[in-house]
Amino acid sequence: MAQWLSGTVTNNHHWHANLFSLKVQTPAFNFTAGQFVRLALNTADGRLQRAYSLVNSPGSAEQEFLVSTVADGKLSPLLQQLKMGDSVEVSQPASGFFVLDEVPDGDNLWLISSGTGIGPYLSMLGTHQLWQRFAHIILVHSVRTIADLAYREFIGHCQQQHPGQLHYQPIVTREAHSGALNKRLPELIQSGELQSACQQSLTNRSQVMLCGNPEMIKDTKTTLEGLGLKKNLRREPGNITVEQYW
Ligand SMILES: Cc1cc2nc3c(=O)[nH]c(=O)nc-3n(C[C@H](O)[C@H](O)[C@H](O)COP(=O)(O)OP(=O)(O)OC[C@H]3O[C@@H](n4cnc5c(N)ncnc54)[C@H](O)[C@@H]3O)c2cc1C
Repeated sequence: MAQWLSGTVTNNHHWHANLFSLKVQTPAFNFTAGQFVRLALNTADGRLQRAYSLVNSPGSAEQEFLVSTVADGKLSPLLQQLKMGDSVEVSQPASGFFVLDEVPDGDNLWLISSGTGIGPYLSMLGTHQLWQRFAHIILVHSVRTIADLAYREFIGHCQQQHPGQLHYQPIVTREAHSGALNKRLPELIQSGELQSACQQSLTNRSQVMLCGNPEMIKDTKTTLEGLGLKKNLRREPGNITVEQYW
């Protein structure tokens, strides 16, 4: 049964009106990069709790979450309003199998996300395991607007630390932006445009993690299966490992 830690908000950084990063101080706890916890608030309408991926890497002093405010959502608009010193509860233990231990070896590792689905990958970027296991890591972040491209500074820093090993490919679907592609992921993969832009192959010797909205995951998975990649299951190892946010 889940236990709850008392957390205190130390920072709420608003990337734009509907996207924020919440930092929460809690007693230290263990987790594996890629896992999620639940955040809970007690409100006048009762207790609300939802799952959020940890953005920080294991061992950090604070826990961090990248959250988009869902219009008409119950909890995310309340989390958006939290300020330094406010309380939020954090569930224990962290859960989920969207972790590198579940991913077989491969020629390269594609970390493909939409929106806040980049969160688990940011956590993995801070682990030794990622850099030791894969010669080439391709971080793909598909968003609507340039302002949605959060954590670019951190990603740039990781690229400097690991020259030639991390390829970062933003996709911005509703605005033109230099260096970003601007079509839907399945289309970019089917045409080979994504692979050319990243100068990396996407074959049945690749590993792919997919995280974000259900439509992106379904359509991208179908496209990848068309290229000969298979869903990764514990009983039958394959290439595609998935975390769906709703
Ligand atoms: C394993 C897991 C990890 C998750 N990690 C994150 C995370 O790191 N960051 C995050 O923002 N959300 C994450 N979510 C989604 C999160 O749990 C909530 O569903 C979301 O914040 C909406 O809650 P709400 O109470 O505001 O909306 P609700 O009143 O519960 O309404 C839910 C509806 O909101 C929409 N929705 C849910 N999540 C999103 C989203 N991220 N972007 C746009 N629309 C959405 C869907 O239409 C969904 O049906 C995760 C979900 C799961 C299952």
